[in-house]
Amino acid sequence: MMAIGNVAHHLKSFKALPWILSRHVAPSPSSCHGRLASTEGSTPSPSMYKFVVVGGGAGGLAMASSLSRKHGKGQVAVIEPSDVHYYQPLWTLVGGGLRKKEESCKPMKDFMPKACDWVKEKAVEFDPENNSVKTSGGRVLQYKYLVMAMGVQINFDQIKGLPEALENDPMVCSNYTYETVGKTYTAIQNFKSGNAIFTFPNTPVKCAGAPQKIMYLAEDYFKRNNMLDKASIRYYSPLPVIFSAPKYAAILMGICKERGIQVNLRHNLVEVKPESKEVVIAKLDTEPMEMINVPYEMLHVSPPMGAPDILKASPLAGPAGYLSVNKETGQHTKYPNVFGIGDCTDFPTIRTAAAVSVQSGILLRTINAVINGLTPDGKYNGYTSCPLVTARRSCILAEFDYNFEAIETFPIEQGKQRRTAYHLTSDLLPSLYWHGLLKGHWHGPAVYRKIFHLGFSK
Ligand SMILES: Cc1cc2nc3c(=O)[nH]c(=O)nc-3n(C[C@H](O)[C@H](O)[C@H](O)COP(=O)(O)OP(=O)(O)OC[C@H]3O[C@@H](n4cnc5c(N)ncnc54)[C@H](O)[C@@H]3O)c2cc1C
Repeated sequence: MMAIGNVAHHLKSFKALPWILSRHVAPSPSSCHGRLASTEGSTPSPSMYKFVVVGGGAGGLAMASSLSRKHGKGQVAVIEPSDVHYYQPLWTLVGGGLRKKEESCKPMKDFMPKACDWVKEKAVEFDPENNSVKTSGGRVLQYKYLVMAMGVQINFDQIKGLPEALENDPMVCSNYTYETVGKTYTAIQNFKSGNAIFTFPNTPVKCAGAPQKIMYLAEDYFKRNNMLDKASIRYYSPLPVIFSAPKYAAILMGICKERGIQVNLRHNLVEVKPESKEVVIAKLDTEPMEMINVPYEMLHVSPPMGAPDILKASPLAGPAGYLSVNKETGQHTKYPNVFGIGDCTDFPTIRTAAAVSVQSGILLRTINAVINGLTPDGKYNGYTSCPLVTARRSCILAEFDYNFEAIETFPIEQGKQRRTAYHLTSDLLPSLYWHGLLKGHWHGPAVYRKIFHLGFSK
């Protein structure tokens, strides 16, 4: 989703952007079309709900499923404009040519709990003083408890020339939206020779491993097609490290060295020039800051991301614009009847669906405590997980906490590249997502970790 005001500005000077704009208004790929939402065309539902959930992504549906199961029909409203639900983690494999992009989406109606009222509109204004949310259709929903699960906003337009390059240059791609992920594998296949550039943005991202996973898959493709000697693979990141958790960072640096991948840390992409096929990169540690032009044959961009504009502009936002929550319980820091889950919150961990699964269990406990007049006693440790796909059929299963310390589920060395970890990611996790997490039945692997480690894990 792009910042819509900025898109409108771009449209004045650049006509060919409707497909990018469409990401903001929740498009429906034909293969994923569902029937109309239950509220459409029928009498408007009552506007007072025990729970209003904003967003029907991973966190929103997980919470809506559990809350409606427990509290009954008509108690939960979900505000979600999209006809389609995306399993975003699959986009890495789609970009690498290992899955079809259509496999990543299913009709929203098939996963929206039947006991919930689906308000198929956008939330546009929050008034926590009066416990209400306004929607794009002009409805005002009153709530007793509000659960925020809006995800992050993708801001392609924060990099000069990027929207135009994504539109016009077949060799510029991004796995970060359904609309752009389809270009990635084509670009890898059409690569002839020169620089294959992969970037990480100067903002927090969802799945911080995704910007480099696609690079490893591209390298693997070039190797299998005897093209490695023609490719200079380069990674540019503004961060001082390749990955936040030191254990996995050391392993990934080793992999890059072994495969001849050039890692450029403290380097930030600021502009794409599709006419001359160059990127402009800022060297962050130079004073005055040096800008370098680097030619590309292929470019994969992980775009800047941020809190959704309407959240940022609301009283619910913390200093960085995300929903301000207690990092152990998920309860809002100012409004005790407001809760947050997933990417739109300021939980100081890496934003992933895996983190959402653990947060969902904690949040249910928190909400239950608040309903019963108790002090929430949840202790979210920041658990997050990133299956670092390093080649076709090879993966490192990174799992870590707020301190970036590894908390691994299996009693084997997870830092090793393994085929089993790849199959877990490719074949098992999608089912766990669709049928466990979204239905409110999967709250992370802590129980299994304890069993596998005979009770001695964290
Ligand atoms: C390329 C890529 C690779 C990834 N790889 C992994 C991985 O390997 N493992 C992993 O665990 N995670 C991975 N992730 C991250 C994971 O997909 C997200 O962390 C997860 O989906 C977050 O869930 P969420 O509910 O917070 O947000 P989302 O699932 O993004 O849902 C947000 C929902 O809010 C809705 N919404 C937005 N604005 C409004 C509004 N104004 N009103 C109402 N609704 C609104 C949207 O339509 C959407 O349905 C990856 C993500 C990407 C993009």
